[in-house]
Amino acid sequence: MKKRITIIGGSIAGLTAALILASAKNDELDFDINIIDDGKPDLNAVAIYNSPLFPSGITGKEIIEKTLDQINSLLKVNYISGKITKIDGSKGAFIAKGENIEFESDYIILATGASSFDIQGLGDIIKPHNLMNKPNKIRLEYKGRQEVKEGIYVAGTASGVTSMVTTAMGSASEAACAILSDIKGTITIVHDTPSSRK
Ligand SMILES: Cc1cc2nc3c(=O)[nH]c(=O)nc-3n(C[C@H](O)[C@H](O)[C@H](O)COP(=O)(O)OP(=O)(O)OC[C@H]3O[C@@H](n4cnc5c(N)ncnc54)[C@H](O)[C@@H]3O)c2cc1C
Repeated sequence: MKKRITIIGGSIAGLTAALILASAKNDELDFDINIIDDGKPDLNAVAIYNSPLFPSGITGKEIIEKTLDQINSLLKVNYISGKITKIDGSKGAFIAKGENIEFESDYIILATGASSFDIQGLGDIIKPHNLMNKPNKIRLEYKGRQEVKEGIYVAGTASGVTSMVTTAMGSASEAACAILSDIKGTITIVHDTPSSRK
């Protein structure tokens, strides 16, 4: 069962979601993952001293490079420079479009950050972000397990969580597990043990 997933936004939230999905690949479940990013992550401004297990002082650029390596060691993904401007279709048959790019997918994750959201086709979902101390920050409205629309999930600061790397990772993990659960039709998580991948 190969599911096509489009992740819009390739910073910490988008990559965390991709990592969780990649880690769930098994004999029954496989993924085609496209991550599209237009190169303006808040993460670019960061040096991290307050997230457990991150090397002290690691920069956003290094986090993105190393996390992509970690994902690709589990499942090869496509990381594409570009901007998505429109989403059409419905669960199982979404089309995400931008200039000279188009991706068909079963599910979409919006990991687009809190600065702006200019993707057409999803209606009036933009709300003020109430947990950031800078003006004009936004979040996307969702129901249930971060579902903006059936099959489309929001992750990271775009979901309204406090702007910290760890909270963005937490919300992205939730979005990925919600998709896994939807695919399997039952609550699904990925738990490893020291021997599970040997
Ligand atoms: C100066 C500064 C210092 C910080 N210091 C810390 C710190 O010390 N510790 C800490 O925990 N956190 C820190 N943060 C916060 C941290 O950077 C954010 O919480 C985190 O980056 C949020 O991750 P995200 O993936 O949700 O969003 P972002 O990192 O903002 O990434 C969103 C991505 O989506 C892309 N995107 C948006 N729309 C589209 C589209 N239509 N098509 C394609 N791509 C799109 C953007 O270009 C961007 O790359 C800091 C932030 C700043 C600004």
